[in-house]
Amino acid sequence: MSKQILIIGGGVSGLTLLHYLKKRFPDEGDVHLRLIEKEPAVGGTIHSVRQGGNLFESGPNGFLDSKPSTLELIKDLGLNDELIQSGDAAKIRYICIKNELHALPSSLGGLLKFKPLSVLDKMRIPFEAFVPKGGHPEETVYEFGKRRLGENFAKYFLDPMVSGIFAGDAKNLNLQAAFPRMCELESNYGSLIKALFSLKKERKDQGADKDVSVKPGETLCSLRDGMGRLLDAMYQRYQKNIQLGEEAIDIQKVNDGVIVETDKVKYYADKVILCVPSYAAAKALKPLNEFLASELDDISYASLAVVGLVYNKSDFKNPPDGFGYLIPSSEKKEVLGVLFSSNIFESRASADQVLLQVMIGGVHNPQSVQKSREELIEIAKNEVKTVLATHGDTVDHFVKICPKAIPQYNKRYPVICQVIQREMTPYKNLHLLANYLGGISVNDCTFNAQKMAEQVQFENT
Ligand SMILES: Cc1cc2nc3c(=O)[nH]c(=O)nc-3n(C[C@H](O)[C@H](O)[C@H](O)COP(=O)(O)OP(=O)(O)OC[C@H]3O[C@@H](n4cnc5c(N)ncnc54)[C@H](O)[C@@H]3O)c2cc1C
Repeated sequence: MSKQILIIGGGVSGLTLLHYLKKRFPDEGDVHLRLIEKEPAVGGTIHSVRQGGNLFESGPNGFLDSKPSTLELIKDLGLNDELIQSGDAAKIRYICIKNELHALPSSLGGLLKFKPLSVLDKMRIPFEAFVPKGGHPEETVYEFGKRRLGENFAKYFLDPMVSGIFAGDAKNLNLQAAFPRMCELESNYGSLIKALFSLKKERKDQGADKDVSVKPGETLCSLRDGMGRLLDAMYQRYQKNIQLGEEAIDIQKVNDGVIVETDKVKYYADKVILCVPSYAAAKALKPLNEFLASELDDISYASLAVVGLVYNKSDFKNPPDGFGYLIPSSEKKEVLGVLFSSNIFESRASADQVLLQVMIGGVHNPQSVQKSREELIEIAKNEVKTVLATHGDTVDHFVKICPKAIPQYNKRYPVICQVIQREMTPYKNLHLLANYLGGISVNDCTFNAQKMAEQVQFENT
């Protein structure tokens, strides 16, 4: 008799898992695969919307080519022809302080010229190499920055970076969990400045171009029709195995498998993989293990509103150049940053228009997502008018409100992960996979899904 695998959740984690399991078990007679998704469409956080000539992203704008997993998935799905990369025009990134844009330094020289840093801050930079490595395991991103390069480094660089990636609070985000690469650089090179020089040299030795930034070799990629195309392609291919509009509400372990009750039917499966946010996993698992559910529920999420604004180019004295800007939380703004989307990827807007994506809310402003769409558009427009000096009104807009957008790898997060792992150990046929475990980026999700597909084994509970 064929084995049954049930995947719950049709975001990028669940769909990528389905894809790689389908490759591993092509014969339905051996292993039958089913994915259920509570919404009427797959995608979860990822959704691209074409409106007129503009393409709005309600979730990720893209993924970095520094890790191979998403590129591999795209190739596997035959989408290589649709792959696009951000151009050179999008290389410059800014930090916005007191409504003024400052180019983010990409070299030591740039760091020394960065105006918001004081002379004392700059004098400290060469001594970073002598700061002993290794903070405590619960060290936050902010504490790390302050320890290595001083308070203003944490405030002007790490705080906005955390806003841009996690919509989170650098003073609460666990460094090791949220940015393992930074810990690795400190541990391998003993210093961030030394790491920068060594990585530059390594790239030069490998024949890379001379213009090496702090993050070598990272280019943002997407698909011509947006990130949603990736999920649509998987849906089209595996439609037969996907059940939309069905919510898992209760999960029970039986002797040799798992019973999942949805709002429509009951499934028996030999293996169940829950690819849903932690709060949704908590709800479904509560009857099975209340303690596990309460730990899952302890992972907090940042709320976020994404507002897309389209202007005519002629409405700017100087149309914005570069990738976009981030705003340190010390500026006390509801806006976390603005992406210059039409600079990042061509064909996001017509040639005579500018598409901007304004991120509002995050953990510092949980009240923002309570606001109406009109209020959010107004906040976004005011920000753009103040900083980018627009003098006309928008020609189109888009709003997406995400009350629980991004999981926060906060101070207690490593402990929560240990407890989750321990509590899950007895359930050999039940697994958890989503962005609250092992990284929030699309690359992390596709990598973890591929790894899980390779590891699935059938055994009795
Ligand atoms: C605004 C925003 C911008 C981002 N930008 C980037 C970026 O530029 N680059 C990047 O790499 N990452 C980015 N991310 C992060 C990345 O997009 C997410 O971490 C990733 O898409 C999460 O995928 P997932 O499948 O793990 O979870 P989700 O996308 O949350 O998918 C979970 C799915 O499970 C379904 N579900 C929930 N409960 C049930 C249930 N009981 N039964 C059935 N189905 C259920 C949901 O409806 C959903 O479809 C961004 C995130 C946000 C919010």
